[in-house]
Amino acid sequence: MIGIGIDIGGTFVKLYVMNDHGEIFRQEKLDTDYSKGSKGFIAQIGQFINAIQTEFSDQRVAVAVGAPGDVDNQRGILRYNPNLKFTDVKDWPLADQLEKYTHLRPYVANDATLAAWGVYETDLKRQGTNVLIVTLGTGVGGGLILNGELYQGSHGTAGEIGHMKIADTVTGPLCGCGAHGCLEAFVGTIGIKRRALQSSVDHPDCILAQTVKSGANFKVAQVAQAAKQGCNEALKIWEDTGHYLGIGIANLGLILDLDTVVLTGGVSGAAPYFMSALKRVLDEQPIRTPFKKLKLCVSKNPDIGGVGAAMYALHRVQTDLHK
Ligand SMILES: [Zn+2]
Repeated sequence: MIGIGIDIGGTFVKLYVMNDHGEIFRQEKLDTDYSKGSKGFIAQIGQFINAIQTEFSDQRVAVAVGAPGDVDNQRGILRYNPNLKFTDVKDWPLADQLEKYTHLRPYVANDATLAAWGVYETDLKRQGTNVLIVTLGTGVGGGLILNGELYQGSHGTAGEIGHMKIADTVTGPLCGCGAHGCLEAFVGTIGIKRRALQSSVDHPDCILAQTVKSGANFKVAQVAQAAKQGCNEALKIWEDTGHYLGIGIANLGLILDLDTVVLTGGVSGAAPYFMSALKRVLDEQPIRTPFKKLKLCVSKNPDIGGVGAAMYALHRVQTDLHK
């Protein structure tokens, strides 16, 4: 059996082809082509799927597509996509359009959700039954494995942990989604950079302030670099980041009684600077049970969207076969 995983991003599309023994046959990264509109983009992905179907015509082929935004996983519709710049489509019926092109019905879900399945299969080897995977980057996403299965909620929206409210919804900082007080507004790259900028105004002599000044468009990695150089202000930014992330994970731990939390995405690379503050929040929870044995780790594979999609395509077919 062959699984095709497609991870759609605002800048790149990543495509993976693997079989149910874990052998990877193809791994490609293409620019997201906006030039021919949404129809042209469907053709771009559709051609790839058709070529694989021809190449592996003696095997069953399954496809899963991870899309950035709010996905109706039952009907395969991308309802809300702030990161894709296709202006000719709203409520994008990805599954229908791809099926028309390839004669194969793809499974469509949120990208962080499918990446979470990838982490569950590769990093955790399906150990743990109630797992939260947190994707830390510009946006903050999440995926949930509950009772050993991917949990997507009633409408496919489950796991949008970046927009969980951890501060006042009127006076809290503004999030990219338009709301105030979301976790992402504190621990997404925009929130981290906002605090770094403020800190550089308040403490103009520290290493962090020099970093921020020197780069017109400084990166969060530079805030980590300043922390590595021992800058107390940069260390404070990461400590605050860990604290806020800890609040989010404490909330989810109390709601879901998790056994494992895995951090992934580019910002998880700064874990050495924020992990102790994160753990402190969990250690301070008066209700101890959900946190006493909670396994907290950082994924070894920060770029797992496509692999996760391919693995989930295979998993779905196997599950359906046993029904
Ligand atoms: Zn938000």
